[in-house]
Amino acid sequence: MSDVLQNYVNGAWCDSAGGELFDNENPAQRGSVLNRAQASTPEDVDAAVGAAAEAFTHWSRTPVTERQAAVGRFLDALAEGREELARIVSLENGKTINESRGEVDSALLEGRHHLQQMSVFAGESSPRVEGDVTAWEQLHPLGVIGVISPWNYPMNVMCRKTLPALLTGNTVVFKPASFTPGSAVFMAGLFEKSGLPSGVFNCVTGRGSALGNQLIKDPRVRAISFTGSTEVGRKIQIMAGEDFTRTQLELGGKNAMIVLADADLDAAVEATVKAGFGCSGQWCTSTSRVLLFPEIAEAYMEKLVARCEIMRVGDPLDESTSMGPVAGPSQFDGISAAIAKAQSEGARLQFGGVSENADGYYILPTVFDGVTREMSIFSEEIFGPVVAVSTVKNLDEALEWANDSIYGLSSSIFTNDMAAAMRYVREIESGMAHVNIHSGFKTPELPFGGWKESGFGPPENGKTGLEFFVERKAVYVA
Ligand code: NAP
Ligand code: MG
Repeated sequence: MSDVLQNYVNGAWCDSAGGELFDNENPAQRGSVLNRAQASTPEDVDAAVGAAAEAFTHWSRTPVTERQAAVGRFLDALAEGREELARIVSLENGKTINESRGEVDSALLEGRHHLQQMSVFAGESSPRVEGDVTAWEQLHPLGVIGVISPWNYPMNVMCRKTLPALLTGNTVVFKPASFTPGSAVFMAGLFEKSGLPSGVFNCVTGRGSALGNQLIKDPRVRAISFTGSTEVGRKIQIMAGEDFTRTQLELGGKNAMIVLADADLDAAVEATVKAGFGCSGQWCTSTSRVLLFPEIAEAYMEKLVARCEIMRVGDPLDESTSMGPVAGPSQFDGISAAIAKAQSEGARLQFGGVSENADGYYILPTVFDGVTREMSIFSEEIFGPVVAVSTVKNLDEALEWANDSIYGLSSSIFTNDMAAAMRYVREIESGMAHVNIHSGFKTPELPFGGWKESGFGPPENGKTGLEFFVERKAVYVA
């Protein structure tokens, strides 16, 4: 019998008021039940928001150093739980064990950044004397924050939102993705272990479509930090906008890589493999379009196909696996349909497709070329290990095609031509730009967010990672 996971509300583990559970499948084993989680109801969300609102009255007034100490203990517990958590992440979303370890490491790096940044942030305002008036700027936490996260980075994304929210004095109700309740509950356990006061962090599992309304429309919830698809982000923005509830939305992408004739082709191919097939192509910053200069198009394709041939697709817990399954049946069906559609629209399949291994939801690293701007594979986010390759005439056309997207999350260029690289940096319409580095590269000091329909509100990390969670008050005393 698999584990039954509980909600964590007001410092206690509890069942949903409705008494319903849902099964969570290991995507490497079709039909398996990895664990069962609470199919929570709006009533459960209401209770969690109530607990968070109550806890806010004291947490918001807890000294910054104490809040930092609590987050520090949480990060220590996270470092200690690295291997156990990585295993849970791999079992429930299918990424390889090394990718899951990398996710925990990324969360630790970002968490430590936020912890240090908080000291500077809290100390930045010094009073000024203007005639008989003393003036200063005061920071205030908002209140209860709703955190809604996706399954692809189930623990890193929630940390990137939750830790800044807690450090600035807010309390949190966390609704994880339905594919990944196990890692969410593990994280809640770490908050419990680190001695965070009851109600400061609460975790309620269940379907977003059933719980979203309640969380977003509750007047006690002052902000929603969401990562997920543009489609759901738009719904959240419309609901939140009616009540002026603050939003931070990190959304989808269709990230382009441009490869010039003078590029180091081996480096460009490695970057395609890393960012096109890492986490089975399920990074929001995955490279999903490649725009090649004609001179190198053939050589690049040969190298990329040769590289795909030696990739090992299989069990995510096997250390030698290069790519695990996609996250679950809905992902698998969507990616399979997108591959079939690309073929029917005339794109040429150079490698990959659906795997013959039917034990799990396996898709091979998949490469199409001959992709034109009219094909859906050029514009629609597939969120799977599928790379769409086009040939472009020159840099003008490369930039025009790269920017021809509703999305603008990340991008990259491979070239040794400084002028071309700098023109790309100036003209590319994306929140992240990379020269001779793959599109998923990031550091916590710089903003993580998208342009156009890839994001809304202040980005995570960087200077705005904490800023999103505070109100500012100008104070004048005569
Ligand atoms: P999703 O379907 O949009 O779901 C994201 C979260 O929203 C899940 O927790 C989901 O719950 C919840 N949700 C669904 N419907 C909702 C509603 N009506 N109201 C409130 N919440 C609702 O996205 P996903 O499939 O988990 O993740 C993949 C997407 O995330 C891709 O588009 C990817 O590009 C994007 N992403 C973006 C970033 C970034 O930083 N820009 C990072 C990672 C991923 P359920 O699971 O219960 O449906
Ligand atoms: Mg699962």
